[in-house]
Amino acid sequence: MTTVEYDHVTKQFDSGDQEVVAVDDLSLDVEDGEFLVLVGPSGCGKSTTLRLLAGLETISDGEIRIKGDVMNDKKPKDRDIAMVFQNYALYPNKTVRENMSFGLEMTTNLTSDEIESRVQETASMLDINELLSRKPAALSGGQKQRVALGRAIVREPTVFLMDEPLSNLDAKLRTDMRAELQQLHEAIGVATVYVTHDQTEAMTMGDRIAILNDGELQQLATPLECYHEPANEFVASFIGSPSMNFLSLSYETNTGMGTSGSITYRFTNEQREELGEQTSVRLGIRPEDVEIATEEGPDTVEAVVRVLEPMGKESIVHFDVAGESMTASVPAEYNFESGDRVRLKLPRDRIHTFDTD
Ligand code: ADP
Repeated sequence: MTTVEYDHVTKQFDSGDQEVVAVDDLSLDVEDGEFLVLVGPSGCGKSTTLRLLAGLETISDGEIRIKGDVMNDKKPKDRDIAMVFQNYALYPNKTVRENMSFGLEMTTNLTSDEIESRVQETASMLDINELLSRKPAALSGGQKQRVALGRAIVREPTVFLMDEPLSNLDAKLRTDMRAELQQLHEAIGVATVYVTHDQTEAMTMGDRIAILNDGELQQLATPLECYHEPANEFVASFIGSPSMNFLSLSYETNTGMGTSGSITYRFTNEQREELGEQTSVRLGIRPEDVEIATEEGPDTVEAVVRVLEPMGKESIVHFDVAGESMTASVPAEYNFESGDRVRLKLPRDRIHTFDTD
């Protein structure tokens, strides 16, 4: 079943003489219990997409439904959602207990005993019972984040909305909280829409991820599908770190050869079928799929080492391949030096091809 539906949703901002289409004809569903991550570069429309669902922005066109009910004209408080913000948005003069209970007092008919028991239960889940009498100023960043989560969880909403909730935490805490949020999600099982600009966060947390660019949905799929079968070059370069390498080749249909300067690459029959009558090809390969070749072959290219970045077990090596740069992630045993000439193998089954228009 579906919890949230965006049905051809558009949001346009008119600021002075400028019109910005922040969300462009977006259609996507969030399934019951699903953890859906909205990801994309700054300004791609993630926050606006979330704020439309929260009722903090009005929809220009289209429809948003929660459990089948149209939300377009409903006030935020009537949407049965709970939102967690990047800056926590706690009430500074209220204790943790009051921060958590306030929303329930305002929006439900629960007795104070019922509210207290829900607060206690949620506090135990988040391990913040000891903090209930404190005010936010007496909490660390990580603790504030837990309280902000607690305040959302205690309301038992139909959907959780999270806007970069971990971005104010330091790297170590962020990684820990990622895992903890996933466990909480498993335990609670409430549909969650989670916004981040961080592709690692998206890849590790999302059941599915929706990749946005310029207000448009690029791909909606599981993290592994986005990684292995990127819908287009934007997705391919956005997902994965270091980023995918791209080469533009002119393509000869008869021979199945792609060339660029001194690079020649022979495509497989299957790839040739896919390429059809194209005369140019954009070829992509991930740094982790580039290998150091032990012998010449149709799937190898000559390269010159530019820079080597040791990363421990592996090194990231930046190569020059006929004037284009290419990055490879190679075992640390390769002690390359700048200027070394090597042959790189671009395994054919790891090659992605993209439209050049
Ligand atoms: P993201 O969250 O991906 O960084 P946003 O949803 O915040 O992106 O913004 C998408 C686009 O909409 C941007 O171009 C931004 O400048 C514009 N935008 C967002 N909010 C407003 C607003 N209140 N008025 C005008 N333009 C806005």
